[in-house]
Amino acid sequence: VRFVNVQKTYDGENLVVKNLNLDIKRGEFLTLLGPSGSGKSTCLMMLAGFETPTHGNILLQGNAINNVPPHKRDIGVVFQNYALFPHMSVVENVAFPLTVRKMNKTDAKAKAQRALDMVQLGEFGERRPGQLSGGQQQRVALARSLVFEPQLVLMDEPLGALDKKLREQMQIEIKHIHESLGVTMVFVTHDQDEALTMSDRVAVFNDGIIQQIDDPATLYECPQNSFVANFIGETN
Ligand code: ATP
Ligand code: MG
Repeated sequence: VRFVNVQKTYDGENLVVKNLNLDIKRGEFLTLLGPSGSGKSTCLMMLAGFETPTHGNILLQGNAINNVPPHKRDIGVVFQNYALFPHMSVVENVAFPLTVRKMNKTDAKAKAQRALDMVQLGEFGERRPGQLSGGQQQRVALARSLVFEPQLVLMDEPLGALDKKLREQMQIEIKHIHESLGVTMVFVTHDQDEALTMSDRVAVFNDGIIQQIDDPATLYECPQNSFVANFIGETN
């Protein structure tokens, strides 16, 4: 994935992503870290296809995707406000991306069941989402984003609503899935510790600009400017 001179302006005047150039490597775990309003979600929305860059291009395997609709991008998404369907069972929720892609119901259900097993919810397929805890629902959303075997998975603050213990369990689970599937993951958080423990690389955002992109150790030991130093140094 490559962002080439990408800019995003909302409402014709509010420039929130400023001339962004970014190469995401195949198989890496990249985290976008930065304060509220710095443009992290906007970047993910453009990558997922829910927003279009005002200027510049996003390339997927060398092809510009500005005009490719979201469901044709082969990208799985877990957004905090991208809820499960309450009227469907858990397994139907997970199978949904497959049925949308015209897979027959029996095969889709079998595949969804395997994805649920992967997030340790194999027993919960026949429940409704409302009968699961918040953390379990997040795992269903994770299974749904992985079930069609996308090459890229985007996660926007997927753990934001969870308590500390569940959060740590989910961090381990997501890392495990990343390593076992070899999928490229782009993760958004404003939690420094979460970014540093989970990522191969972290892009520190401020005011629509990447201040520094490096592996966690380098960021921690050699911040390139005072913004990065202060932001990484803050504790939650
Ligand atoms: P947070 O950590 O709070 O989620 P963020 O880094 O994800 O912040 P964005 O959601 O990308 O930030 O927002 C960047 C800026 O763009 C903010 O100033 C926000 O108000 C503005 N913005 C976001 N979405 C829209 C929209 N649909 N229309 C107009 N302005 C928007
Ligand atoms: Mg956001």
